[in-house]
Amino acid sequence: MIGELPGREKPDEFVVLGGHIDSWDVGQGALDDGGGCLAAWEAVRVLHQLGLKPRRTIRVVLWTNEENGGRGSAAYAAAHKNELPNHLLGIESDSGTTAPIGFAFSGSTQATEQIQAIAELLRPLSAGKITDHAGGADLQPLKTAGVPIMDLSVDNSKYFWFHHTAADTVDKVDARELSRCAAALAVMSFFVADAPERLPR
Ligand SMILES: [Zn+2]
Repeated sequence: MIGELPGREKPDEFVVLGGHIDSWDVGQGALDDGGGCLAAWEAVRVLHQLGLKPRRTIRVVLWTNEENGGRGSAAYAAAHKNELPNHLLGIESDSGTTAPIGFAFSGSTQATEQIQAIAELLRPLSAGKITDHAGGADLQPLKTAGVPIMDLSVDNSKYFWFHHTAADTVDKVDARELSRCAAALAVMSFFVADAPERLPR
């Protein structure tokens, strides 16, 4: 499933963010990864509602089959093969939607410096920490194509209490923290998409 906030100057350049819509076959998959999907979707919905039009297109993608094969993200990369050189960044939220801390980023030193500058804007949300080694499973086909990738980092100290168990149900999702995750994703995706120069590889 794909939604877009079209870019005002360069609609053929993209920042992609999302989560995966499939889940383990117990529980409801609320934390893994219903919350991540909603946070990404909500980030783009809020930008749209605020009337913000970034220079480049922000595309929210809800991948499928993350849990046992990654065929959704592979299919996305195949279907959008010609666009991949114009993908500036891929972001995934797949560690739960508890208190956001920042982002893990895999990209060049130059790109990391730009990401760190944007992350300064997230300090009031206590979500400005940038670490290295992003590993989102759905982002691997983008990474293989040379696209810088990024994971939303959250306080996941309780995530593995529920992950892939029957207890991964919607009552474990905190609406306020989910909103803060959406805010962090909105700020990061907007400022990468709206930057005068494209994020270097
Ligand atoms: Zn997951």
